[in-house]
Amino acid sequence: MDAEVVNESDWLSPTSIRRAHDRIRGYVRRTPLLRSKAISESARAEVRLKAEHLQHTGSFKVRGAFNRLLAIDPRSVTEVVTASSGNHGQAVAYAARALGIKPTVVLPENAAPIKVEAARAYGATLEFSGTTSAQRLARAKSLAHAQRPFIAPYDDYLVMAGQGTVGLEILGQFAEVEVVVVPIGGGGLISGIAVAIKCSAPHVRVIGVEPEGAAKVSASLAQGRPMVLTSTASIADGLKALTPGELTWPFITQFVDEVVTVSDEEIADTVRFLAERAKQVVEPSGAAALAYVIGPKKPCAGKKVVAVLSGGNIDWATLATL
Ligand SMILES: *Cc1c(COP(=O)(O)O)cnc(C)c1O
Repeated sequence: MDAEVVNESDWLSPTSIRRAHDRIRGYVRRTPLLRSKAISESARAEVRLKAEHLQHTGSFKVRGAFNRLLAIDPRSVTEVVTASSGNHGQAVAYAARALGIKPTVVLPENAAPIKVEAARAYGATLEFSGTTSAQRLARAKSLAHAQRPFIAPYDDYLVMAGQGTVGLEILGQFAEVEVVVVPIGGGGLISGIAVAIKCSAPHVRVIGVEPEGAAKVSASLAQGRPMVLTSTASIADGLKALTPGELTWPFITQFVDEVVTVSDEEIADTVRFLAERAKQVVEPSGAAALAYVIGPKKPCAGKKVVAVLSGGNIDWATLATL
């Protein structure tokens, strides 16, 4: 499909990602690519870390949130609603407030206190519903109407394009990169990054990482069609989708070179390693990509690698238990 003749809200393309980049640049940080000698040595590779834990609200999700909300016509829409285990809700609340839109966020009844407080602090009206994403989604969709649209966490082309700006920045900051490693939840982040990278630098390998206990994309690739897990278990709460996104799945199959899994123990080790050796506070979901890179197989040895540190929202008490 030709990007020039397709509406940005109806498709994901290099053009829509470039437009997202121009649209959101005044609202989001161009996060640094960090280097750590200890991490490169551990990976036996030249590793750089895309520091989205230093992004506004502590995760990349503000990129998609701003791109989606900036496409809204403020004359007809003054409110939005979303469902989220945390980072997406925070991002939508933050972006909405910056743009003068009223956000309602549906959270799980067992949401991490730091994430609840943050959403509240960003001025969102909070609703609590169940513990599963299905329950939250149903509640959020029941609250949505034409003047209060539902903002999806990943199954939305404008959200995916916003997340893809991470990929554009990586190419601009490290032109020699050979491998980009990205965590996978519903797949919005990796869809955007993979399209941004593969369409202008097809030789760069894009690798997706999921927790062993939430390996929905690995299971789906093995079967050749999207599979729905019956349950998930992982400390990486941002990666626990039961199934790949309906809109993200085709982009994952077309543009992602490989999808791998890491254990919770490897993720926890990496969170600790980042804190102790690189002085970076990263949440488990945000450490999964690096966990693969520095894992026992040293899969990127000898390569120039970027691992995306996708978020840093973790409270001290939880960090101390890892
Ligand atoms: C949401 C999230 C992810 C996963 O992003 P998807 O677009 O759902 O694949 C990864 N890391 C963090 C910190 C997140 O908040």
